[in-house]
Amino acid sequence: MDLVLATRSTHKISEIRKILEGVPDLRVLDLTEVGVRYDAAEEDLEPHDTFEENAASKASYFQAITGLDTVADDSGIEIELLDGAPGVRSKRFAPDQGLEDLALDQANNAYLLASLGDAPLADRTGRYVCVAVLNRGDPDDVTVVRGEATGLILSEPRGSGGFGYDPLFFDEELGKTFAEIAPEAKNARSHRGKAFRALALRLVSASQHS
Ligand code: IMP
Repeated sequence: MDLVLATRSTHKISEIRKILEGVPDLRVLDLTEVGVRYDAAEEDLEPHDTFEENAASKASYFQAITGLDTVADDSGIEIELLDGAPGVRSKRFAPDQGLEDLALDQANNAYLLASLGDAPLADRTGRYVCVAVLNRGDPDDVTVVRGEATGLILSEPRGSGGFGYDPLFFDEELGKTFAEIAPEAKNARSHRGKAFRALALRLVSASQHS
């Protein structure tokens, strides 16, 4: 089975490829590999207030273009002290507009730290959420899976791995941030790992029943 990964994020692509690599007879293709050139319309695919709706919107947009089974994820971080913000707005949390990649991540992290002020560590609880939606071209046959990972937001960054908020996201069980652990260890614990392993199980079970 061919599965298109509907994201432009190279970090997400490499994490998801690794998570899905043990699924038999599955070929994961990114947008470049299926020849989908970037279009500015992609910037408007996540206007909703839930991860589920945004992931569904991205999956359906790219499925219509490719005609292939397409999975999209929408993800972000929810901070309890901030009433669940930034949530679905995690990518564009910082007020600075027009930044990309590392500069954007750094601005978001600085803004998160400023928003939390000097709140004590025990109160700086948050969770990463990832929702993946698989669209096969049939609106009645859409698969939705969700994964979550809980942690604490440190008051300064630690580590150089991962991306986004990972240098601030402290996994209490490991005693490390997601930026201080190997990619495999992050996948084992992360919201994205949990969501895409659930998706993998659904794919395997669907192929056994077909
Ligand atoms: P999306 O592309 O709309 O799903 O935006 C996801 C945003 O949430 C990213 O740009 C990051 O800011 C944040 N995020 C999601 N997953 C992760 C992760 O695994 N590590 C760090 N940040 C993440």
